Amino acid sequence: MSKLDSKIPEGPIKDKWTNHKNNINLVNPANKRHIDVIVVGTGLAGGSAAASLAELGYKVKAFAYQDSPRRAHSIAAQGGINAAKNYQNDGDSTYRLFYDTVKGGDYRAREANVYRLAEVSGNIIDQCVAQGVPFARDYGGLLDNRSFGGVLVSRTFYAKGQTGQQLLLGAYSAMNRQIGKGKITMYNRHEMMDLVVVDGKARGIIARNMITGEIEKHSAHAVVIASGGYGNVFFLSTNAMGSNASAAWKIHKKGAYFANPCYTQIHPTCIPRSGDYQSKLTLMSESLRNDGRIWVPKSMDDVKAIREGKKKPTDLSEEERDYYLERRYPAFGNLVPRDVASRAAKERCDAGYGVNTTGEAVYLDFKSAIQRYGKEKALVSGVENPSAEKITELGEQVIEEKYGNLFQMYEKIVDENPYKTPMMIYPAVHYTMGGIWVDYNLMTSIPGCYAAGEANFSDHGANRLGASALMQGLADGYFVLPYTIADYLSNEIRTGEIPTDSPAFNTAEKEVKDRLEKLINIKGTKSVDHFHKRLGKIMWDNVGMARNEEGLKQAMAEIKKIREEFWKDVRVPGGLNELNPELEKAERVDDFLELGELFAKDALHRNESCGGHFREESVELEGEQKGEAKRNDKDYAYVAAWEYKGDPADAVMHKEELTFNDIELKQRSYK
Ligand SMILES: Cc1cc2nc3c(=O)[nH]c(=O)nc-3n(C[C@H](O)[C@H](O)[C@H](O)COP(=O)(O)OP(=O)(O)OC[C@H]3O[C@@H](n4cnc5c(N)ncnc54)[C@H](O)[C@@H]3O)c2cc1C
Repeated sequence: MSKLDSKIPEGPIKDKWTNHKNNINLVNPANKRHIDVIVVGTGLAGGSAAASLAELGYKVKAFAYQDSPRRAHSIAAQGGINAAKNYQNDGDSTYRLFYDTVKGGDYRAREANVYRLAEVSGNIIDQCVAQGVPFARDYGGLLDNRSFGGVLVSRTFYAKGQTGQQLLLGAYSAMNRQIGKGKITMYNRHEMMDLVVVDGKARGIIARNMITGEIEKHSAHAVVIASGGYGNVFFLSTNAMGSNASAAWKIHKKGAYFANPCYTQIHPTCIPRSGDYQSKLTLMSESLRNDGRIWVPKSMDDVKAIREGKKKPTDLSEEERDYYLERRYPAFGNLVPRDVASRAAKERCDAGYGVNTTGEAVYLDFKSAIQRYGKEKALVSGVENPSAEKITELGEQVIEEKYGNLFQMYEKIVDENPYKTPMMIYPAVHYTMGGIWVDYNLMTSIPGCYAAGEANFSDHGANRLGASALMQGLADGYFVLPYTIADYLSNEIRTGEIPTDSPAFNTAEKEVKDRLEKLINIKGTKSVDHFHKRLGKIMWDNVGMARNEEGLKQAMAEIKKIREEFWKDVRVPGGLNELNPELEKAERVDDFLELGELFAKDALHRNESCGGHFREESVELEGEQKGEAKRNDKDYAYVAAWEYKGDPADAVMHKEELTFNDIELKQRSYK
């Protein structure tokens, strides 16, 4: 096991990034025109990186498996994006955003990166406003803010429940400007199948044209992986169904370390699962916790009556409801971080208080907010002595303005009117904090290969605060990578165009073709989904919201078994040289079957609870925090970065020790 060099610049935390930018090498504009950069992924991280790098003058080749960058999974982001602008004058600052993020991540993130993230957060908003992103504005026309979990200020900028979509349109427009100028060559419907490493440096990729099936070789002086997260290793998640880990996993197999794979975020507010044939879960944005109150009935009799349809939630008086987050965490109430809210929901449901037939649902109730807003609006609109009906009507109007599309989405899926009856929610897999290990420059452990956005192990530690993923992806793409990549590329100005007929390219191409042929030729009896579902069930049962040693060992053994069965019995219909979604899926599920085992191995070795990783063996047994997750800083305050050794079970761990100079390591309390 070696120690990793994260290349954190010297000096006080507030000066690190500025000094680093002042001192790193640059590439002059004339030389940039001769340097190629491949960007895999055109979601918010890759799209912003591609646009910025092209704007700087590099020749960019961008790859995405969708038919347009507009359809990257980033489009699904609903609630908002954080920035320390302090528009509300509520005491926000760069330091507070930095502090909240390190604390929210349960002290498992790299301080210097998080500070930089907070530092550039305001620039992101300026950049996006300049692009025309229609952020919500208040009555006076200024940008509006709302609050997300784990913080005591309002710093979340939003565009109704469509923030990701609007931000992506901004990045896409910036990309299109460069596509139009010939600075970005866009390869839609192209899937990266492997990384090509020549003499120890990333020099290109092998891609499959998904329409024709043709295998192509593309070279570059640097490769950026911005391929998103791996939540779909659980089969069911809030991610787009196409989201996958393959690009990240392929570079892992070529030498990039994979960091903290066990850090997954289970989001507390998703629409509960409805049955075995579901292929995706739907998120109800965390922004709803600004106004929604979470509860279950206090008495088991009421739970039973509700499940049997003899009572409705609206029949229960205030005294009969247990607002368990407000009860357990009075300081943060319904706005505790996601990991805390998810575990609290699980705790109530495990204790038998779940309110739907499967016993896996709690209520998210807007009645109080509707009344509060209704009274306020009546006053503002000069309605004298408003009736109860009028107050409700006015209150519902306010809620509709804030969250209308989310309420409509809920009603379409569940067929219940959430203005009149509380929503039912339950935690679901949502985001992966783990990912490809990168240094301060966002370079992976392969020289010339970078990772950005959700694909890297990111700045969120063991738990991500709401509205921080968009911030991180756009910080990486617009403001970090465009500077740091120059430091490496300044040594490439004499390299010249990189040929694609070298043995390294030819070998990588052959390996891809052989693997795809092997998959098609198994001609087994089980569909790809059959294996993916089995993997997902093991992951959820044994590596989900709560984990223990026995379950993790069992998961590792079972995943290995499924992987072996997959390679003997999977059936991939169709041919190689055509549009073949089953073949695409097979390739991705094969990678999930390896990643899942490493995930469990990482969770097994980390015998502490932190953030999204809850070990049943590591719980506070007494004091004010009794029953809460117990972190172990003495033994585990490090990043675990795994090196591929041919089999996930044999992966070797490299440690990056985390040092905290600017934030005191302490018990994370939201009470
Ligand atoms: C429902 C939902 C709501 C969310 N809401 C919020 C929110 O309100 N605020 C917030 O901060 N975060 C939110 N998040 C998280 C956030 O949306 C994501 O973390 C973020 O958008 C990821 O961006 P990305 O650019 O890293 O990856 P993605 O947007 O997933 O883009 C991945 C890109 O990589 C490409 N790609 C992947 N593999 C390959 C391959 N092998 N070859 C070629 N191309 C490839 C894809 O085509 C795509 O272009 C939400 C997430 C979900 C699921």
